Amino acid sequence: MSHRIAIAGSEISFDCADGQSLLDAALRAGIELPYSCRRGVCGNCAGEVLQGDVAGLEGASMRNETCQPDQLLLCMCTPRTDVQIRPASWHRIDPGARKRFTAKVFRNQLAASDVSVLQLRLPAGQRARFHAGQYLQLAVGDGSTRCYSMANAPHESDALTLHIRHVPGGAFSARVPQLQQGEQLEIELPFGAVALDEADTRPIVFVAGGTGFAPVKSILDDTAKRRIERPITLIWGARYADGIYMRTAIAKWQRQWPRFRFVAALSDGAVDAPDDVFAGRADEALAAHCPALAGHEVYCCGSPAMVAGVRDTAVHHCGLDAVDFHADVFVDGPAVDPLPAATA
Ligand SMILES: Cc1cc2nc3c(=O)[nH]c(=O)nc-3n(C[C@H](O)[C@H](O)[C@H](O)COP(=O)(O)OP(=O)(O)OC[C@H]3O[C@@H](n4cnc5c(N)ncnc54)[C@H](O)[C@@H]3O)c2cc1C
Repeated sequence: MSHRIAIAGSEISFDCADGQSLLDAALRAGIELPYSCRRGVCGNCAGEVLQGDVAGLEGASMRNETCQPDQLLLCMCTPRTDVQIRPASWHRIDPGARKRFTAKVFRNQLAASDVSVLQLRLPAGQRARFHAGQYLQLAVGDGSTRCYSMANAPHESDALTLHIRHVPGGAFSARVPQLQQGEQLEIELPFGAVALDEADTRPIVFVAGGTGFAPVKSILDDTAKRRIERPITLIWGARYADGIYMRTAIAKWQRQWPRFRFVAALSDGAVDAPDDVFAGRADEALAAHCPALAGHEVYCCGSPAMVAGVRDTAVHHCGLDAVDFHADVFVDGPAVDPLPAATA
């Protein structure tokens, strides 16, 4: 059985089947709501249910600590009746935007002891369309897919660069170092709806954990290409110095933006550290270097635990308005079901 879902203040309505999430139903109907992980962790899809009755998907919780009192995670709710919702934002999806490609490994370099930078080439003449901060889904070969954020800026669209941390025993990431030039990978993109508002000129703080640097690099390269000027701080957390694996990019942004501030937060290896190194975790570096965040935006990307720690520090200790915290959470394991058919 399905129910009708209406978006408050608009003409938009769509069907949602029992057992389907409100977010997936919207995406399948061609309406994009804010989202990233689709697994109840990142909180990007939090919105209000104004009328009607909803339940948690397979008994899952419909809220997490990112939700305001009147909000639910739209990726975790399924309707019991017709429902009216008020998402944080919505827009119609361009039906031709998502595509499947057979990409070829072009370059595969070890950037740190446990991080590969993988460059993929698209078939001749084909281009991928995405926004800085979005991710792709890659077929692993057992029928499941994994998500990886694009690290290159959208204007470099004949190739895709991924930063992949090797997870011990991981079905895909552990075999990335062995991928050879010319090997083929099936990918689909773009996914995710975290995007910076170009018109916003407030100071912004990026906090990246490990390969959470990938989408930050895409966003900052895109911001540089568009010559957008706003005060930017980047805090990059890793255990040891080799986890800060792309200092050339940081040096480039420092040349472009004289006010650009960079802090490497090393939790385990900050002995004899240079000036831009903080001995401690990324959330501790945020509290030390950005103690007053009212009027700022924070964009954070990394593991669920790291993002939760940074959110807590930003909102509860540094005075950030919770609506100004944006996150991409690298939840482990296979991606949830693919979304509506992409064109090949
Ligand atoms: C939006 C998004 C963007 C991402 N971007 C990046 C990126 O740019 N770079 C990057 O390095 N990683 C990224 N990730 C993580 C990535 O998708 C993979 O999860 C990671 O590489 C591990 O995949 P794997 O196949 O090697 O490991 P897996 O074989 O999937 O296992 C990895 C670990 O997860 C556990 N696990 C397996 N299945 C599940 C499950 N169903 N639920 C919970 N845990 C499970 C395993 O026990 C193991 O410890 C992103 C994740 C998301 C959701």
